[in-house]
Amino acid sequence: MSQNGSGGVEKLVIIGSGPAGWTAAIYAARANLRPLVIEGQPTQELLPGGQLMFTTEVENYPGYPHGIKGPEMMALFREQAVRFETRVWTEDVVECDFRTRPFRLKTSEEKEVRAHAVIIATGAKANWLGLTNEKRLAESGGGVSACAVCDGALPVFRDQPLAVVGGGDTAMEEASYLTKFASKVHVIHRRGDLRASKIMAARILESPKATVEYWSKVVDVLGDKTIQGVLLEDTRTGARRTLPVKGMFVAIGHTPLTGFLGGQIDLDDKGYVKLKDPWRTTTNIEGVFAAGDVADSTYRQAVTAAGMGCKGALDAERWLAAAGVH
Ligand code: NAP
Repeated sequence: MSQNGSGGVEKLVIIGSGPAGWTAAIYAARANLRPLVIEGQPTQELLPGGQLMFTTEVENYPGYPHGIKGPEMMALFREQAVRFETRVWTEDVVECDFRTRPFRLKTSEEKEVRAHAVIIATGAKANWLGLTNEKRLAESGGGVSACAVCDGALPVFRDQPLAVVGGGDTAMEEASYLTKFASKVHVIHRRGDLRASKIMAARILESPKATVEYWSKVVDVLGDKTIQGVLLEDTRTGARRTLPVKGMFVAIGHTPLTGFLGGQIDLDDKGYVKLKDPWRTTTNIEGVFAAGDVADSTYRQAVTAAGMGCKGALDAERWLAAAGVH
C-alpha cells in the first residue's frame, strides 16, 4: 500500500506517462498534491513515455526551435515532474475499482493503491501491420513511422517517394500532409474503395502528387538501414511487386489503452474515454479524469495531450478541494 495524504490514501494517482500524464503531474505536484504517477512497464510495444518514445525527431512542439528526440523530450517531462516531488512507479495498473471510495487500483506488481482522485492518461497505441522489418526500421529510425505529422517533415523524406498505408481519414490526412514535402505519395489500401470521408478522400484523389494503390497490401518492408521500398501483394490475385519508397507511414488506426478500466468508465464508440464535458477532463465517475490521447481521437498531438494533462490536474485539484481532501 502506498502512503500519502490521509490514512495511506493517495490524493491523486496519474495513470500513464506521456505528455498528458507528466504535465498533469507537474501541475498537481506544484499544487502540493504529491501525485503518484504509475508510468507503465516497458514492453516491446509500449514504453513509459508513450508514443513519443517511438518517434525520432519532434519538430512541432513549441519551445524546441531545433527539434528534440521524442525519448529525450519525455525524459525531460519526467525530470520536471520528479523535481517537484512526483513519485513514480514503473508498473502497469491492471485493475481499477471506481465503485468504492477511495478508489482502489491494483498494479502489475500486485500492489494496491487507494486514491481520492485519478487521472487516466494511458494514451492510445498506433496499430502496426505486424511485419518484422516494419518494426525493425521503425525502432531504428530507418524511415518507418506511424505519425506523418511527427516525422514527415524530416529532411530524409524531402522530395522522396513515400508510402502511406491505410484507407481511412487518418491515412488521407497523413498523405495530404506529406504531399507538401514528398516527390510522390503512394496511398496503399487493401480494398477498391477508400473508407475515408469524401472530403478527405478528395484531397488525395485530386492531388497531382498522390496516387492510391488499390487492392494492395504491404507484405514486406525492404531495406537494411533505411527503407528502400515496400513489397506489395495484390489482395485479389496475390501478384507481388516492389514499390520503391524512402518512407512508410502506417495509418491503420489507433487503439486506446482502456482495457484495464473494466467497463466502469464510459467510452465512445471507438473505445476512447468519453468526457462528460468536452471542454473539461471529467468522466462519468466523479473524481476520475481523463487526459491526452486516451480521451482524444481527433488531435492526438503531444502539445494537445500536454494541454489536456494541465486541465486534468486543475480539474482534479478543484474537485479534491470541493470534496474536502487536503
Ligand atoms: P479507420 O477509419 O478505422 O481506418 C483504418 C484504415 O486502415 C482502413 O482503411 C482499414 O482498411 C485500414 N486497415 C486497418 N487494418 C489494416 C491492416 N492490418 N492492413 C491494412 N490496412 C488496414 O481509422 P482512422 O483513419 O485512424 O480514423 C479513425 C477515426 O478518426 C475515424 O472515425 C475517422 O473519421 C476519424 N478521423 C477524422 C479525421 C478528420 O476528420 N480530420 C482525421 C483522422 C481521423 P479497410 O477500409 O479495408 O477496413
